[in-house]
Amino acid sequence: MNLDYSLFFLRFKHPFGVSSNTRVETPSIFVKLTVGEHSGYGECCLPLYLGETIEGSVAFFEKVKPILKKVKDDFSVVEIIKTIGSLSERDNAAKAGIDIALHDLKAKIQGVSCTKLLGLAKPEPLYTSFTLGIDTEEVMVEKVKEASDFSILKIKAGTQNDRALIHLIRKYTDKALYVDVNQGWKDKHQALDLAHFMFEQNVVLLEQPMPVDMKEEMAWLTERSPIPTIADESVKRLKDLDVMDGIFSGINIKLMKSTGLNEALKMIELAREKKLKIMLGCMAESSCGTAAMAQLTTYADYIDLDAPLLYKNDPFSGVTYEAGRISANETIGTGAEPLMELFEKTI
Ligand code: MG
Repeated sequence: MNLDYSLFFLRFKHPFGVSSNTRVETPSIFVKLTVGEHSGYGECCLPLYLGETIEGSVAFFEKVKPILKKVKDDFSVVEIIKTIGSLSERDNAAKAGIDIALHDLKAKIQGVSCTKLLGLAKPEPLYTSFTLGIDTEEVMVEKVKEASDFSILKIKAGTQNDRALIHLIRKYTDKALYVDVNQGWKDKHQALDLAHFMFEQNVVLLEQPMPVDMKEEMAWLTERSPIPTIADESVKRLKDLDVMDGIFSGINIKLMKSTGLNEALKMIELAREKKLKIMLGCMAESSCGTAAMAQLTTYADYIDLDAPLLYKNDPFSGVTYEAGRISANETIGTGAEPLMELFEKTI
């Protein structure tokens, strides 16, 4: 099996602001695995805040290359994932890139969709939220208009004045809101006041309201909050779910945190056992990574898979958006195919 990879900068239609920074572009390393006549594609998405670097991911791919060289077309996806998983403690995004490409490749060899390969129900088109980055009132108004197809909007909060932010949005739309606080609330009593205020403003979920290390306060808030609380930064991998009982109402699963589809499915299973709500989210993936996650949408209570809509140069096909709903392409593999030559040279 051959591993090729290629660095690409996804450029935002609007500079994308969250409480800590504003970006105009975001790097992804696309992965191509080839065996015989078939190629599978994956994505290693590396936004700054993830803490993983281009250099670190490239070093990881170089470590994986000779291992994959020995692999033939009758490979076991799970065995390879186990082997590369043991190469390092970190590199979650790079591992996800390989995991996604392996699933795509295996499904293509078998001539089936990735959903079928995984033994999952065929996903129906489902409503996804559309994210509005933090911006000036003028630009926010423009973004609300651009989101006219979507019935749920997602707001990045955790600002100095989240009440004002919600009031501003409410001047222009009464759509349901997902609010991602990005660990921005540090006082549990203020957080509960804000949760009640947001409940009255038709906010339907609160993502990561408090910092990761404020577990006790977070459990206190979840017990009293009129809105479900969803863990993002607090739950990256399967092992993080063990210590989450009572702390949140649900978890946001992302392929770049979970190291790919294999572990994401295990997280879905365990979250269901624990009666936690399941949100399927993304970092800043193109259609390549999003097509992989779209295979799992049947199992989601909430879907936040709008990242491909934010770019002006998405180099992959793979997902379709219609009237605010996301659907995976009806095809073999994940449905992700490059729209341009990406792999002529590696980094
Ligand atoms: Mg988040």
